[in-house]
Amino acid sequence: MATYLFGSLTVQIEQGDLTRQKVDAIVNAANKHLQHGGGVAGAIVARGGSIIQQESNEWVHLHGPVTHNHPAITGPGSLFCKYIIHAVGPIWGEGAEVDKLICTIKSSLLTANDLKCKSVAFPAISTGIYGFPVKLASECFLHAIEQFSKEATLLFLETVKIVLFDTGTLQVFLDTFSTGL
Ligand code: ADP
Repeated sequence: MATYLFGSLTVQIEQGDLTRQKVDAIVNAANKHLQHGGGVAGAIVARGGSIIQQESNEWVHLHGPVTHNHPAITGPGSLFCKYIIHAVGPIWGEGAEVDKLICTIKSSLLTANDLKCKSVAFPAISTGIYGFPVKLASECFLHAIEQFSKEATLLFLETVKIVLFDTGTLQVFLDTFSTGL
């Protein structure tokens, strides 16, 4: 695990399984209809239970499709967290992907802070099924976290974990955070 400081915010980057994180909130890499079929979303429902899909369906029924700047929130099912923040990253090729990914990450951080979470764990949003290049995604994470740490007032959030599934993705994120932008 590697640790980086952004003001009072600690960022931890490690290899692991998001669904096993003991944090206040985990961030899901969701689609806008919150149909949690594959990737990390599928793993969350497989481990946390179908109640997460049911609550997600209710959220979409009430609010409509999820946007980059307004993630959905559900309970954790049987996972070891208090909330799941369902964030929707951009699909590579749809346009303005960098701005959209930064927006997705910042809105998830703000949501976790609004929920008074002290810790939140992210996967590498958009870099799986959505095809976003990993190096660019790692730079979006660095940028979004830097901006959030400077702009946010009344910071409840203390720890941001980035949990990467595979060694290659981990290495790219470590390089980016070690050298800066
Ligand atoms: P997206 O549709 O936003 O691209 P994916 O779920 O396909 O989302 O992939 C996002 C990232 O999450 C990928 O790097 C993928 O390898 C990773 N991933 C998949 N399962 C897990 C897991 N259980 N824990 C952490 N990361 C995961």
